[in-house]
Amino acid sequence: MDIPYDFKLDYLSETISKNNYKRILIQLPNGLKKYYKYIVDYLKKQNPHIEIIVSLSATYGACDIAEEHARRINADLLVHIGHNMYPWYKPRINTVFIEAKYKYSLSTSLLNNLIEYLKEIKCKNVGILSVIQHSHNISELKNFLSINGFNPIVGSPKYNVMVSGQVLGCEYSAAIGIKDKVDCFTIISGGMFHALGVYLATTKRVVKIDPYENRIVDITEKGRRLLMKRYGVLMKATDMKTLGIIDGGKPGQYRPWLVKVLSEKARTKGIKTYIFIADELNKHILRNIDLPEIDAYTIVSCPRLPIDDLYDYEKPVLTPGETLMILTGDMSRYIFPW
Ligand code: SF4
Repeated sequence: MDIPYDFKLDYLSETISKNNYKRILIQLPNGLKKYYKYIVDYLKKQNPHIEIIVSLSATYGACDIAEEHARRINADLLVHIGHNMYPWYKPRINTVFIEAKYKYSLSTSLLNNLIEYLKEIKCKNVGILSVIQHSHNISELKNFLSINGFNPIVGSPKYNVMVSGQVLGCEYSAAIGIKDKVDCFTIISGGMFHALGVYLATTKRVVKIDPYENRIVDITEKGRRLLMKRYGVLMKATDMKTLGIIDGGKPGQYRPWLVKVLSEKARTKGIKTYIFIADELNKHILRNIDLPEIDAYTIVSCPRLPIDDLYDYEKPVLTPGETLMILTGDMSRYIFPW
């Protein structure tokens, strides 16, 4: 089996034996779960005395750590694979984060295609961003762009647990901080999730460098259409009289301060609020609590849920940023995500 990610197994193995850990919980995002056997077999070979249990719960970010599973099995170490630490939450369980860096370099053909495209769109000052799996490719991209006469700029996230140029689905300070200095953004990532997030946070041209499909994709038009859709949802909620605010039940998605800010602002506008808390959220759960009197919902647990999962719900489902736009009456600038 080809293992394209670095799970830092020697480091993990050393950490386990140095601390004499006996019972370990491993948590992986769904896309990496298939590597559990490789990881478990390797660690057990190096440390035959240990017991390893794999959590099958879904995790989409370091906001969602399997603390409950770790406590239930009395683990002395939780190994969270696929993310680095979340800026707003530190697990109360002894946790090691393994980022799972993608092992391969950006291919020459991919880089050459990028150069051609950046010339075509006249993007000279190039913002460089990445998800954690490819953050080590940032320096090679930066050098390549410099050698070819571009001015590459890598943004710094506001939070020191994140690395240079890194973005999360809900954290784009590395992009926002350099927005006015760049002509376009590039982002090294698979899928559309993070690239679209960069567009929503900056409304600048975004070119995705996809190492998995070995191609570059300009997602700007898709981003523009998404933004229009979001304004459409916002418009339907501008006259709301009653708002449901849904907080997150998972420790890293519990944001009572944000609930307080939104509900107080709503009160001053004469909008009645009902507050909920949920670990998981989908259309069925929303329909179960929905009443004719509720005009809209705001999700504060994960601000991507309204955009990626609940975008076609029967009533407006808003992010915290969109709710603030309505409550302040300022629609001139799209606020994403909060
Ligand atoms: S986007 Fe959602 S799942 Fe991802 S880190 Fe943020 S809150 Fe967690």
